[in-house]
Amino acid sequence: MQILKDRIRKDGKIKAGNVLKVDSFLNHQMDIKLFGEIGREFKRRFADVPVTKILTIEASGIGIACIVAQYFDVPVVFAKKTQTKNIAGEVYTTKVESFTHGRVYDIIVSREFLGPGDKVLLIDDFLANGKALEGLAALVRDSGAELVGAGIVIEKGFQVGGDLLRSEGIRLESLAIVESMDEETQTIVFRDDE
Ligand code: 5GP
Repeated sequence: MQILKDRIRKDGKIKAGNVLKVDSFLNHQMDIKLFGEIGREFKRRFADVPVTKILTIEASGIGIACIVAQYFDVPVVFAKKTQTKNIAGEVYTTKVESFTHGRVYDIIVSREFLGPGDKVLLIDDFLANGKALEGLAALVRDSGAELVGAGIVIEKGFQVGGDLLRSEGIRLESLAIVESMDEETQTIVFRDDE
């Protein structure tokens, strides 16, 4: 998606530890006009897929998922990160290792909001090692719903998540795939660039 790649080049900041900072337009301050274009593009890419629910993870996936959901005309459910124990029974739960914070946390979704018959599209801002998306996919599996695909705004193609999820047969659509990035020169190469 060219306007997204242009924006990443213009405003993205490459930080140590393979972190791309895009908090001026994607996950702190949010450019809603760009989100609209992102929503339209996901709808175009998943036009052939029946979707009844969009599932994301708090916090940075929520804003994007809400705008995307307008194009699919379905509700958004976001998995909550929690430290509360003894919640089994009412919720689906699994563990996720955080890329940005390096610790493991539990994520939960209430059984009330996901179940057999649902066709679920996962949406998230970033794909790095794939732990967040794998956690969401596990919740979908537990619920008996069908996972129809995953839409990612920025995939870091040099990390393992994309290959992992594609090899599991998950239909993955990433709007910008970063092939490599260099902190010193602040340059980014996208997968389909020359
Ligand atoms: P994964 O679980 O695929 O390793 O990491 C995905 C999650 O980590 C995303 O939900 C995102 O919030 C965060 N993340 C991973 N890499 C980056 C990055 O380069 N920049 C930012 N801002 N967040 C990232």
